[in-house]
Amino acid sequence: MKTVIKNLTILPLTSAGELISGSILIEEGLIKAIGEVTIPSGARIIDGYNHLALPPLVNNHTHLSMVYFRNYGSGYTSLQGWLEAVWALEDRLQEDDIFSASLLGIGEMILSGTCHFRDMYFFPEGTANAVRESKVRANLGLTLFGDLEETHKRLERLPLFREWASESLLSWDIAPHSIYTCSEATLRKGIEVAQREGVALNIHASETAQEVEEALEKFGLSPIAYLQKLGIGEVASLLPHCVHLLESDYPILRDLGATVVHNPSSNAKLGCGIAPLKRLVDEDIRVTLGSDGAASNNALDMFNELRLAGLLASASLQEANALSPFALLKMATAGATLEVGGVADLILIDLDKPHLTPLNDPFSALLYSAKSSDVEYLFCNGELLMEKRELLTIELERRQSEVKKIWEGILQR
Ligand SMILES: [Zn+2]
Repeated sequence: MKTVIKNLTILPLTSAGELISGSILIEEGLIKAIGEVTIPSGARIIDGYNHLALPPLVNNHTHLSMVYFRNYGSGYTSLQGWLEAVWALEDRLQEDDIFSASLLGIGEMILSGTCHFRDMYFFPEGTANAVRESKVRANLGLTLFGDLEETHKRLERLPLFREWASESLLSWDIAPHSIYTCSEATLRKGIEVAQREGVALNIHASETAQEVEEALEKFGLSPIAYLQKLGIGEVASLLPHCVHLLESDYPILRDLGATVVHNPSSNAKLGCGIAPLKRLVDEDIRVTLGSDGAASNNALDMFNELRLAGLLASASLQEANALSPFALLKMATAGATLEVGGVADLILIDLDKPHLTPLNDPFSALLYSAKSSDVEYLFCNGELLMEKRELLTIELERRQSEVKKIWEGILQR
């Protein structure tokens, strides 16, 4: 089906300040024209009057099915305390619990303008089925944890992950949890498998001061330098957090070509600190954004992350506009652009709102005053997944009641 969205203000995010007035033509999952568009006969027409079009926000780090633990528990004072509380609950999770939770998480993300996420969690089959049903994009992690014996068991699932690579909306990574929960043999094995399979390695790194201190004590190296020593430079790598970096870590991150994933809400909530965002940008290190799981955030709303990333960068440096709205939007969209020939992933923001009036600078508006609930339409791969705030591929009420019911069951196990 051909779709034309007309009367738009378009932020292609190809260069700072660039705005296009006009239409977007979508056909066969691709953007076929931008600007002046001749409407093909039989095309579906959406009136985009008073709407901004831009790429969807990408959630590059989450643990989707942790939605069960949203707003649960309190009393912990550190990441370690939080992890111990969560691990006790995670032991009770079963494979059947994952599908509904994943759909609920995906529904929450679509409603807040996101249709591409990178996940690391148990039972990824359930999440893959939820991705297929909801028609979003995902990179799902083959999660590693513990010693080599445990790793060999987890790697038995490899054939399943390989099958996903043939699907256009699914891809996968090797995801060792961290250097403090995986043995050295597990980490080496993870890197070896990622290299052999041609996939990326996704690993939490330098999240707390304690993690760095322990690595220095145990290995004589920072977590980043330790990962480099183990050979992570052989593969593409995503490093969620990087809150506590040594001076010597910056050139290593740059040499590794690593992508740092900044999770400002999670780092703030768990008292981990504030990642040196501007420094990373100044050092030419690629940064994207993530929400982390709903238990440490407690929402999967990338507009929250975008705003907090900007505010914390300025507050921590006592420097207004430490990072420009354009630079922050590039991080939040993982570098995506709206261009002819590119995939038709896009969102439309309704500007008919008191907090967007007058609009003045649309880049500042998206960073400082837009709300995720202003996202009215979302297209993923050319398919409309949300129309006037209604989800078209997810029965949200049904999934909410399922998740509530399953959660009551988990608590009784
Ligand atoms: Zn995480």
